[in-house]
Amino acid sequence: MAEALVIVGASYAGVQLAASARELGFDAPIVLLGDETHAPYQRPPLSKGLLTGKTAVDQLALRGPDFFTEQNIDLRLGTRATALDLAAQRVQLADGSHLDYGWLALATGARCRPLTVPGASLQGVHELRTLDDALAVHAAVSSASRGTRACVVGGGFIGLEVAAALTAAGAQVTVLEGQTRLLARSFPPAMSDYVAAAHRQRGVALELGRGVQALLANAAGHVESVLLDDGRQLACDLVVLGIGVLPNVELAEAAGIACAGGILVDACGRTGAPNVLAAGDVANMELPHGRLRLESIQAANDGARAAASVLVGQPQPLSAVPWFWSEQHDLKLQMAGIPAHGDQTVLRGDMADDRFTLFYLRDGVVVAAHSVNRPAEHMLARKLIAGRAQIPAEALADPAADLKPFSILQPRG
Ligand code: ADP
Repeated sequence: MAEALVIVGASYAGVQLAASARELGFDAPIVLLGDETHAPYQRPPLSKGLLTGKTAVDQLALRGPDFFTEQNIDLRLGTRATALDLAAQRVQLADGSHLDYGWLALATGARCRPLTVPGASLQGVHELRTLDDALAVHAAVSSASRGTRACVVGGGFIGLEVAAALTAAGAQVTVLEGQTRLLARSFPPAMSDYVAAAHRQRGVALELGRGVQALLANAAGHVESVLLDDGRQLACDLVVLGIGVLPNVELAEAAGIACAGGILVDACGRTGAPNVLAAGDVANMELPHGRLRLESIQAANDGARAAASVLVGQPQPLSAVPWFWSEQHDLKLQMAGIPAHGDQTVLRGDMADDRFTLFYLRDGVVVAAHSVNRPAEHMLARKLIAGRAQIPAEALADPAADLKPFSILQPRG
């Protein structure tokens, strides 16, 4: 199998890479390794519908039951790669066996950043990344009586989605965020303030700028409170950690592949090592606006498509506008483009109505947009960003002004 494509990691990027390779006519063997025992599954519901019971586990399959067989993709679940030998083009597996490759793709994803305080691994303390994690949180919420007190550590997207889902499931939720505002990595202060107000209105308590000193246990070893850095103790039955992720770079790093905040890849997913590609949350990609490690399904899929194009000798660099979405309570948040400090912001719609788009202009060009409950407008915003549309701020700010012509008339490049 010296010509085989071996893919390490069977989530979005790994599965898409295998699928795109076949679509593009790659006809050598493909082995797709996943260390989890579940067949590849959708992740967004893990922090949303799966926690409220709206989504069942059997609705989560990423591909139909026959997909891998039909596409002649050798999916091996519960199989962990432990080392790479780049000179021999060989992947070592946990069971002592090995696989030889012609092409290797690393789609090893990311893992939850651990909370490094006493008590972080007590019973009742959960992280949320995998299906098993989500099932454990769901079980904890549904077995408790109404009024469960849940504490979510981290006010990023995962933490806030979990906070919304737990609230819907009947829990009393407090979010602890170390920074003085929510979603500081992705949003400017105006959006952070909007999201904070929206959560508070919907019953979530927020503690901002507040560190966790320890998690304290009851006599049975189950978490019973969170000790804050101002000395207060917050009683809780359940803690969910959502404090970000760390890319799983260890395999690549140990093999000498260049990594810096992820595996370094070019716009086609090529690493610094011959015949080794990387895509998904683990990949730090060269994008038109600089290097970025994006944690989104879109980036995983598009990065995987770009990497697959290399396999068939027709490299197609990734160029799509990054986009991402989140659902919290009745709010659908959609984000496109990468705003930067200093961009001019223009609000279209009214934050108080929970229906608006915040546009970001750089030198008069639309570079990013954040929408709440405005899906059609957001789709248009993505086109405007891709087309580098120049729109007067007054037109953007006027909900009655038609923006469609700007998506057609603007010069590209
Ligand atoms: P994710 O997308 O997984 O939610 P983010 O990095 O976007 O990850 O968000 C994680 C959030 O957790 C950030 O807002 C960060 O400030 C916060 N955070 C990180 N460490 C702590 C901590 N020890 N206590 C409270 N909040 C934390």
